[in-house]
Amino acid sequence: MSDGLESLYRELVLAHSREPHNCCRIDDADHVVAGSNPLCGDSLDVYIALDGDCLCRLCFEGHGCAISVASASMMTDMLTGHSREDALTMVERVRNMLAGSEGEALEDAIADEPVAALVAVRRYPSRVKCATLAWEAVHGALAEGTDHVTTE
Ligand code: ZN
Repeated sequence: MSDGLESLYRELVLAHSREPHNCCRIDDADHVVAGSNPLCGDSLDVYIALDGDCLCRLCFEGHGCAISVASASMMTDMLTGHSREDALTMVERVRNMLAGSEGEALEDAIADEPVAALVAVRRYPSRVKCATLAWEAVHGALAEGTDHVTTE
């Protein structure tokens, strides 16, 4: 990985964790998913409001480390306004990216998204679960209809 990507990662994680986007609750959400990552102590609730098939609003709140919060913040930016199916496709891409081995190329579809900077987490295997937490929560809600997910 280039040093450029590493510093982009630091910048983005810092910016999103200091001032997370869409960090609030939705009182009349269609889905509320409690996500926990016991390994690190991250605990985030993800709220999804649907308009037909569209994820019209996506928010989260809770407490977690900088990586889990930054990843959740990026996720709300990336998935809001998309269909259920598109959202699940994007979740799958991010999962694949984070599960990949260091140095493995990114899919074109994801390479230009801010979330691509999270690929740097591959260098720190113990933090991968922090980065996937919010995405697993959305997957749990949309694909499995569950109201809680854990990375364990
Ligand atoms: Zn964490």
